[in-house]
Amino acid sequence: MEILQDYSLDELTQKILALNEQKFRAKQIYDNINLGKSISSFSNISKDLKAKLLAEYEDIPLKIHTEQHSHDGTIKFAYELSDKNIIEGVLMQYKYGNTLCVSTQVGCRMGCKFCASTLHGLTRNLTAGEILAQVLVVNALLGGKTGKHRKITNIVLMGMGEPLDNYDNVVKFIRLVSAPESLNISPRNISVSTCGLVPNIYRLAEESLPIILTISLHAPNDTLRKTIMPIANRYSIDEIIKATKYYFEKTGRRVVFEYALIDGVNNTRECAIELAKLVRGFPTHINLIPLNEVKERALKTVSHKQAEQFKAMLEQQGASVTIRRTMADDIDGACGQLRNHIVE
Ligand code: SAH
Repeated sequence: MEILQDYSLDELTQKILALNEQKFRAKQIYDNINLGKSISSFSNISKDLKAKLLAEYEDIPLKIHTEQHSHDGTIKFAYELSDKNIIEGVLMQYKYGNTLCVSTQVGCRMGCKFCASTLHGLTRNLTAGEILAQVLVVNALLGGKTGKHRKITNIVLMGMGEPLDNYDNVVKFIRLVSAPESLNISPRNISVSTCGLVPNIYRLAEESLPIILTISLHAPNDTLRKTIMPIANRYSIDEIIKATKYYFEKTGRRVVFEYALIDGVNNTRECAIELAKLVRGFPTHINLIPLNEVKERALKTVSHKQAEQFKAMLEQQGASVTIRRTMADDIDGACGQLRNHIVE
């Protein structure tokens, strides 16, 4: 069955007119879904129209299945989709606002050696509305409404899945969630994280969407990168850097590089020097993430001191660097971990 969340207000209006209903009903329905409501709980829609809608559309695209609360205020969600598949999300509550990490696929086919999301491969892509529904449900949970009354202020596409492997739905999602009468979240507050699907980085540069492009680099040369990220066999780091420079030229947005620190693998002095050289010459920022250890994987994380040392080496080389605050280390924080606990 289809879901109403997949449609813009214009598209929904066409659907509602096709059901022989008046145009203003479309706006009422659109407002209801942006408040995170299921069709059966719409209060200003007649029983008849609800029945018509339920004959064609899912009542709601997903429900919260499990919540894990961390001592630092972070909440990890598992959502159940209407086909019973499970996906994940993480809410991070900061002083300046609330960031929601969303999933773009059920599973992932990229095969990164340190990541739990890819352990069982790709099950399917999420539709734009299924990505949007994650935001709408958590926004509603926090008491948020639409427009400036929203509670979710920032979105990162860093949950399960490779966003640029589900390109059309991801771009549509960004347009839906940034629509003025939906949550009106500016693309400037949305980060799209990719392991580096080069042709789609060029496509994204042409979309006129000023999102923050984040590249999961994790290694400063192709030889090492190939040992932890199979995608490195398809696209070289040189090609990725060229594409990100193009992205910067087109959008004016500084590109962020993610680098998960894996002890004894990618945290040597040589790695720091090589990495700093790669990101030099255009506005970039490096985000260091001490590896979140995944029980199915043998890779080890670094200590706080080792992360600081690596950061200092990069800074000596002139790079702009932060160490990502390790949040939620008492819950299944890493990509795919919570789902694996539920599915297994
Ligand atoms: N597929 C996308 C987005 C999903 S993951 C991508 O590759 O960017 C979001 C980030 O978390 C990526 O940088 C990913 O490489 C990283 N990541 C995955 N598993 C991790 C782990 N166990 N520890 C630390 N970072 C991890």
